[in-house]
Amino acid sequence: MINITIDGHVGSGKSTLAKGIAKALNFKTFDTGAVYRSLACAFREKYTEVNEENINEFIKDIKVQIKFENDLQHVIVDGEDFTPYIRTEEISMLSSVISPYQVLRDKVTTLQRDFARVYNCVVEGRDIGTIVLPDADVKFFITADEKVRAKRRFEQIKDKKDSPSFEEILKDLRERDYKDEHRAVAPLKPANDAIIIDTSDMSLEETIDRCVNIIKEKVSLN
Ligand code: C5P
Repeated sequence: MINITIDGHVGSGKSTLAKGIAKALNFKTFDTGAVYRSLACAFREKYTEVNEENINEFIKDIKVQIKFENDLQHVIVDGEDFTPYIRTEEISMLSSVISPYQVLRDKVTTLQRDFARVYNCVVEGRDIGTIVLPDADVKFFITADEKVRAKRRFEQIKDKKDSPSFEEILKDLRERDYKDEHRAVAPLKPANDAIIIDTSDMSLEETIDRCVNIIKEKVSLN
């Protein structure tokens, strides 16, 4: 199977880029952040404190499945689909607090590898090119200036009820990037063989075209 990885900072546009590349090449996508977010929702239902004991107990017998409905990815945790609840600011932060735990990452890594084994796919996250799929065919690391990323996010959600301010978005983005880059386990960093793309001055279409062209050069798609 052909595996493309996209890692990068919060709000760098990884998910949208992954979907664009997958559409152009008729691949599947895997948004791995959605798995950490769904686990955060399930964890919050049972525990009030994040610590090693609670994480170990939580993850021990948990069953996580990925399903697609009309191309939309759903993560099912012990039979429950948390998809409508995973995009809140609270869950963004909680997912980055539980994601450094090795036992939890091991569970998610297995799920990701199982997926990549059966589909031509674009898998996006933080540690996909470095840890999860080190032998992937093409690896991208996507970034953009933090103010550009915060502005993009602000424009997307500013008309929604109770949406955060630009400053709040920037603060959340800095905090989560810091946590992801500085954790001991699977920190966010480009793989040695990743192609780094800074999208600060690029449109989404330009970024998709650049990535698709690189993939076509490197991989035989027939
Ligand atoms: O990508 P997204 O913002 O949805 O991810 C939510 C959180 O899940 C991140 O802040 C990060 O802490 C964690 N994550 C991770 N490894 C991945 C994907 C996400 O640690 N592969």
